[in-house]
Amino acid sequence: MGELTETGVVDAVGKELFIGGKWVPSSTGRTFAVEDPATGQVLCEVADASPEDGRAALDAAVAAQADWAKTPPRERSEILRRAYELLNSRADELALLMTLEMGKPLAEAKGEIVYAAEFFRWFSEEAVRIDGGYQVAPNGAGRFLVTKQPVGPCLLITPWNFPMAMGGRKIGPAIAAGCTMVIKPAEQTPLSMLALAAILTEAGLPAGVLNVVTTSDPGGVMEPMIKDGRARKLSFTGSTAVGRKLLEQCADKVLRTSMELGGNAPFLVFDDADLDAAVEGAMQAKMRNIGEACTAANRFYVQRGVADEFARRLTERMSALPLGRGTEPGVVVGPLIDNDAVAKVTELVTDATQRGAKVLTGGTTVDGPGNFYQATVLTDVPRDARMASEEIFGPVAPISVFDDEDEAVAAANDTEYGLVSYVYTNDLKRALRVSESLEAGMIGLNQGIVSNPAAPFGGVKQSGLGREGGTVGIDEFLETKYVAVSL
Ligand code: NAP
Repeated sequence: MGELTETGVVDAVGKELFIGGKWVPSSTGRTFAVEDPATGQVLCEVADASPEDGRAALDAAVAAQADWAKTPPRERSEILRRAYELLNSRADELALLMTLEMGKPLAEAKGEIVYAAEFFRWFSEEAVRIDGGYQVAPNGAGRFLVTKQPVGPCLLITPWNFPMAMGGRKIGPAIAAGCTMVIKPAEQTPLSMLALAAILTEAGLPAGVLNVVTTSDPGGVMEPMIKDGRARKLSFTGSTAVGRKLLEQCADKVLRTSMELGGNAPFLVFDDADLDAAVEGAMQAKMRNIGEACTAANRFYVQRGVADEFARRLTERMSALPLGRGTEPGVVVGPLIDNDAVAKVTELVTDATQRGAKVLTGGTTVDGPGNFYQATVLTDVPRDARMASEEIFGPVAPISVFDDEDEAVAAANDTEYGLVSYVYTNDLKRALRVSESLEAGMIGLNQGIVSNPAAPFGGVKQSGLGREGGTVGIDEFLETKYVAVSL
């Protein structure tokens, strides 16, 4: 591609369904619009899959499974490695495409492309390390031979907030394990996934291994595939509400599931913490992705002795953040994904202030076009405010004060979610004690970002089932088989 232009990067992407290695229109001929959340303008139209198209995509994945499972791990590894290199070499154009469809600032979009690429590098390394075992049976006469095999055709569903990384985190290990797949990206951000399909093809992925269906009817298209009986696994990233529904559907054919669901991360600051580091970490944990992240700090609990100073410093940082279209240089606060997201944030802030919270900065929407909400800090947020139990998914930092460790841990754990918790303290014993007591799959200990392709990402309680990334990430796509041998 020559000079990067907005129309250039959008024009370069396939807008049809990707099934069996071919770009095909929807069987109904229908399309749906993809909009720029910063302007409300339509970027392009993409194919709107019907349930029949979903079945065709599953047919293709099922047809490709046996041959794909037999490919040498080294071959799968090298395809993944090439994808990693291609993603990095096209990071600028892919970042612009992502900013246009999702809104996040360009620098963050580029960061996501690099992060997504790392999953392909990590799983290119894991593909050739699938282990097994040989064990003497306790009676001494038999032997156990343990091997791991691909689960089989997988269904993958991803959200709009990380349009490339959430797909990469599933596709990478699925390819490494030898599984074929049908992926359904979010309706609001299908372009990054369509671009990834082209890159994987260029990297040498055989036809039918990855199939992409874009649709405005996610339930209508996915439910028949889930209940078809030929798919062996569903890997979902999205809200807990939709995850629950999908788990019920999976029960029908007892599909294996991986569920990366919602979060409500507490961010604990003890009075022995390095306050500069805590404020820096708070900015990362809150403002990454404009607050639209499952890992976003949703509740700040600060010990009384440092609460006012922490609030003052956080307010100073938040009120200085440039807001605007993500394509503009220096912008940190891009638009939220849609009007509903702005309405939800507005509702939660109004609820908190009606219950006694005070606004230190922000607290309002911004005149259109686009779906903007100001970076906001609230203090004196009562524990019964709705934002203490619901995902804010926007640039709002609610602060509450605590007096002792037990109170902080109890408040942090008082949620149905358990994805990530952040803890700032310089007391080693407290750090370990609190990390062990927090009901979360991940802890950011004196650090505001936990995501890393080499680490196991995932939640407990109603934040999900299973882990993505790390050495366990590939296991989500493998079945263990044991052969009993009699000597
Ligand atoms: P969502 O509404 O649950 O949607 C996620 C995906 O599911 C989208 O592709 C959506 O399609 C699809 N979907 C919706 N209803 C469906 C149905 N009945 N059957 C099959 N698929 C269906 O979530 P979201 O608003 O896109 O994403 C935000 C949520 O994701 C937050 O709760 C966030 O915490 C969570 N999240 C979790 C993680 C994690 O790793 N734990 C990471 C990122 C995000 P449409 O786009 O067409 O609606």
